[in-house]
Amino acid sequence: MKLDDQQLRLEGIYRQNDQGEYMQRVKLAGGALSVAQARTLADLGARFGSGVFHLSTRGSVEFHGLHADDLPAVYRGLTSVGLFSRGACGGAVRGICCSSSFGPGFGRTQVLLRHFLNHFSGNPHFEGLPKKFKIAFEAGYARSRHLIQDLALVLVDENVNEPRYDVWIAGGLGREPQAGFLLADRVPESELLPLAESVVEVYKAWGEKGRRLKHLLNAVGEDELRNRISQRRQQKTTISFSDAFPKALLPEGTVQRVPLKVFGGELPALKLAEIAGLAAEYDCSWLLVTPDQDIELLRDGSTTELGAALTQAGFVLNNEETVLRICPGNHECRMGLCATRDLAKNLLEELGGRLTGRSLAISGCRNSCAQPQLSEFGIIASKLKTEDGMRRPLFDLYNRKGAGLGEVVASGLSEAELLAHLVEQLRGSK
Ligand code: SF4
Repeated sequence: MKLDDQQLRLEGIYRQNDQGEYMQRVKLAGGALSVAQARTLADLGARFGSGVFHLSTRGSVEFHGLHADDLPAVYRGLTSVGLFSRGACGGAVRGICCSSSFGPGFGRTQVLLRHFLNHFSGNPHFEGLPKKFKIAFEAGYARSRHLIQDLALVLVDENVNEPRYDVWIAGGLGREPQAGFLLADRVPESELLPLAESVVEVYKAWGEKGRRLKHLLNAVGEDELRNRISQRRQQKTTISFSDAFPKALLPEGTVQRVPLKVFGGELPALKLAEIAGLAAEYDCSWLLVTPDQDIELLRDGSTTELGAALTQAGFVLNNEETVLRICPGNHECRMGLCATRDLAKNLLEELGGRLTGRSLAISGCRNSCAQPQLSEFGIIASKLKTEDGMRRPLFDLYNRKGAGLGEVVASGLSEAELLAHLVEQLRGSK
């Protein structure tokens, strides 16, 4: 089967290597999976590809090691449970994420997020963009992920007739990290879709091929970007989503969560099947793939017995809320300069419990997929150095203290130097 790389990208599929293997990214609405969807995914993962899913920092699930002949069957399987990949890669509106987990406002943002995902995914008006376009809904500012989106909608007031959102645009990490700016505050829900469409359309009309919205901002300036968005917005009418009844993904008040650690976001399909089986047995409503690459199970009522059953099955609960994000690095990614998971294991072994309750993110190159600038400690493999005939990675270390993006505190470090700096930083920031 002869496949076109550009078309594949729009379907959420990248050529993974020169051995004819493919990566397929599945869009999940805010990371949420029903139990039936999780079971189907697990079944597909066991039959096709490497047998191990990668959980991304945008709450998506990736198959690795697929062959061209597998793609139609994976498509059919995903579609059978309402899952899809369209726009998960390439110049399109990507999966819409939400880092608020289950907290106040999460239920409402999830409903709106689904409207947006349905509206933008597979819609030719919003495909063929210069590059990716990332949207996030957040129920608050706690995780700071509004800073790194092309468009972020942050719920700031739910207790009014029509909920209000702050709208941030033109952020992004990658090789040139840049925090987004506040485009408009306390925007009523019915204004969000026309405003979002206006931002995407301006990007499609004036963005430079291969460059994200932040580059258009830098080229024309904030005033001119605001002006262009405002002109588009004036051509559109307000759209109310007109829910027939008060919708929420979960009932408010009694839902509890069980957070499971998934090292490096690497989840074997058979483990996902086990989790889904226990979720069904204990009557869970949803599984969440979190932007920290872990899994949470949500249940209406006590989670004590479910937590015990998961522990007995060998899963590790993340009760101390330690965050460890790791991109695939050169384990699977052709851009990777280092074996990120091996580095993480070495660091964890050396640092022991000192990372408990802290956050660390490791990226295998400057593309920053693990979002190292949003962690208390961030590591980027920034270049390779040849030493004794061996090519070894050198690292930059980031530290985040305030409300903005983390900044480089040391660069060009060997692994041993990196560890020494981390120990020093951990000691100094207690
Ligand atoms: S940060 Fe670099 S190595 Fe890691 S997944 Fe992204 S592109 Fe690949």
